[in-house]
Amino acid sequence: MTAIIIDGKRIAEEKKQQVYDEVLRLQARGVTPGLAVILVGEDPASQIYVRNKERACARCGIYSEKYALPADTGEDELLELIARLNADRRISGILCQLPLPKHIDAGKVICAIAPEKDVDAFHPVNVGRIMTGDVLFAPCTPAGVMTLLDEYGIEIAGKSCVVVGRSNIVGKPMAMLLLHRHGTVTICHSRTPDLAAVTRGADILVAAVGKAKMITADMIKPGAAVIDVGMNRDSCGKLCGDVDFDAAAERAGYITPVPGGVGVMTITTLMQNTLLAAKLQNGLA
Ligand code: NDP
Repeated sequence: MTAIIIDGKRIAEEKKQQVYDEVLRLQARGVTPGLAVILVGEDPASQIYVRNKERACARCGIYSEKYALPADTGEDELLELIARLNADRRISGILCQLPLPKHIDAGKVICAIAPEKDVDAFHPVNVGRIMTGDVLFAPCTPAGVMTLLDEYGIEIAGKSCVVVGRSNIVGKPMAMLLLHRHGTVTICHSRTPDLAAVTRGADILVAAVGKAKMITADMIKPGAAVIDVGMNRDSCGKLCGDVDFDAAAERAGYITPVPGGVGVMTITTLMQNTLLAAKLQNGLA
């Protein structure tokens, strides 16, 4: 069997076009969505993510502001900036790129962002809403995965869904979204004793670990939908996922490539959330 390759790039482009079309309609009513992106320090991966977010804003007609702060920025200074952006009517969404330098309490920073501008959906209020199913802003990466599953008509209800990874950003909200759609969900992590035995039962397998090619073909149920969230470098420095793609594609029914799968969808959800924030703040949702 050779898997159907899920084309995240194409779907992301379609979704961004939809955001752009809606932004034009909003602009005609005097509203332009705006996103403020804060970057503290010079982490190279974070710099790439922030650049990609700025580009996506430009593509979608969303106004963006970037705050690149030095690594030694004080926590108070960062909190002051967030307070200012919370009050700024041009700014619909605020995100602070993680990880933050160690001397800054990331939890405090996340809590300082007004929940109605928290387009990353990291604030406890928004996390709670994801838990109860009353989702305001969708968690960017997991929601991107759901869009891919839906676009390819992959059924979730009643299916066995295995999420490998339990981070607050990916694994946990991913499991919640699948659960809300009636998947039977198992979450695995580094203390799961026989990972392969669990993954082999998955109709939908989501890998969000951060270990290059750790999901091998023998861990996949024939015909399964395999979603690779991982973004790693292989021994040659080439970008790769958590799944051993070539061998896995011989066994899976559907599979996402890296790059061109989930990553592009994450930023697309961020654009959708920023649009939604602008609509809500202007009574247009
Ligand atoms: P974290 O490091 O926060 O979490 C990794 C998870 O994997 C942890 O829950 C950990 O378990 C688990 N894990 C580690 N080793 C194993 C193992 N051997 N077997 C089973 N589980 C294991 O990572 P993130 O969730 O933030 O990110 C995961 C990956 O996704 C990374 O490659 C990251 O770059 C990528 N990513 C991609 C995005 C995209 O847009 N495509 C967005 C965000 C992340 P434990 O909790 O027990 O330590």
